[in-house]
Amino acid sequence: MSPIQFDKFYNIVNAEQRGSKEIHRNVNPATGAENWEVPIASEQDLNDAVAAAKKAFPSWRDTPLEKRRELLGKYIELFSQHQEDFINLLCKETGKPRKFAAVEVGGVVPFIGYHSQLKIPDETVEDEEKTIYTEYTPLGVCGGIIPWNFPLILSIGKIAPALLTGNTMIIKPSPFTPYTGLKLVELAQQVFPPGVLQAVGGNNELGALLTTHPDVAKISFTGSIATGKKVMEASAKTLKRVTLELGGNDASIILPDVDIKKVAPEVVMGAFQNSGQVCVATKRIYIHESIYKEFLEEMVNFTKTIKVGNPDDGDNLLGPIQNSMQYEKVKGFFADSKAKGYKFAVGEPDVAASKGFFIQPTIIDNPPNDSMIITEEPFGPIVPTQPWSDIDEVIARANNTNTGLGGCVWGKDVEAAKKVAKRMEAGSIFVNSYEKPTPQAIFGGHKESGIGGEWGTTGLLAFMNAHVIHVYKS
Ligand code: NAD
Repeated sequence: MSPIQFDKFYNIVNAEQRGSKEIHRNVNPATGAENWEVPIASEQDLNDAVAAAKKAFPSWRDTPLEKRRELLGKYIELFSQHQEDFINLLCKETGKPRKFAAVEVGGVVPFIGYHSQLKIPDETVEDEEKTIYTEYTPLGVCGGIIPWNFPLILSIGKIAPALLTGNTMIIKPSPFTPYTGLKLVELAQQVFPPGVLQAVGGNNELGALLTTHPDVAKISFTGSIATGKKVMEASAKTLKRVTLELGGNDASIILPDVDIKKVAPEVVMGAFQNSGQVCVATKRIYIHESIYKEFLEEMVNFTKTIKVGNPDDGDNLLGPIQNSMQYEKVKGFFADSKAKGYKFAVGEPDVAASKGFFIQPTIIDNPPNDSMIITEEPFGPIVPTQPWSDIDEVIARANNTNTGLGGCVWGKDVEAAKKVAKRMEAGSIFVNSYEKPTPQAIFGGHKESGIGGEWGTTGLLAFMNAHVIHVYKS
């Protein structure tokens, strides 16, 4: 096997590296410079990949679980040898600061490692006349459709559970961030049999083709709510299983007894991590009125210290917005807040023009409930704060959204904070931490933030059918 080159990119179909007549280059969002050429897969590439995945499925399904674990272990070893290369790629394709790119790359090994030691659930129930064995079997060919904000960890978050449970998988990275996803799958060819893990890079249309292909059993989709609805509609035609991991509008509730100096910077990080381009970033901050002024002041002080810039320039905490489309979208939130006369507690009312898609982190002080910045997901470094006085009222305000992905509660009295957390309508609530999803628990949204969920033992079932055998005692 020839050594992996980190400046040449291919689609991976049946263990072969495929180029394409159609070539794309994404733009490094920190510099505006073009990145490497990357092939756009054709419909034929996709059909070939599905055929190879279908062919590979029976023997991968029948490979003993221990052997599949062993191969995932080898994949870990191989990936570990290339972490620096992946950090470089990730910096160039996303623009994120090197230390945060390192965190994403550093998450890959634990993600595979945690999943590969999980036990696939089963159950035996016995009564006088029969024994019922409930087992779970893999679905078949799975498609993984990936967004651009965490191209590596969100790919491995689908690959690890799908392969462990005996499925074959085809990854379609976002056209904005194709590089790490394609390389991750190219690397896997040294470990897994042909057809078990493949990748086809391409645009939105290719994603749509994956969702209608009759031989694909499941789509695991992470992306926007609008696209998630299209994926579900298209998948319905062949009754594919779907997991939809979609957008959110997380609320963070600050109780009056918090240690203000300690908590305010953490809440700011929850909002501005990855420049706000996180599905579970904190997107609305509710501060008890008795500490509102002081807490906001601490948030402002910390926000002013945050450096924004290139991945390798000094100690930057935030990078750029990942692409021009999203940059324009986030600017819309600035324009709307400025036009409506909302108070900018910190940040500029206008986004300054620059070579990269940089935006200074911004806090909007107490905009009205029906404002765009409260009701919509900006997916950028701009966040609103509002005061509250009655706990029932603020929980209702936090829950007053069509989304339900994550949320936070902060308070010294942990039991009181947990009681608030239980009443928040979202998939993952964090008490005394900002949103930090982990492979140890299922991750999924309520309401329009998604259908189902993945990761952890419960998440394995998203890649499996229940298979029940009822044995009667004669
Ligand atoms: P997007 O919906 O535009 O694209 C996501 C992926 O879907 C891309 O690979 C794209 O090419 C593909 N796609 C587009 N149209 C398609 C179609 N009709 N059929 C099939 N595939 C199609 O999302 P994005 O802008 O890349 O990502 C940002 C959004 O993702 C935000 O809303 C964010 O909150 C959400 N997100 C959610 C999670 C989560 O786990 N819940 C994680 C990260 C991001």
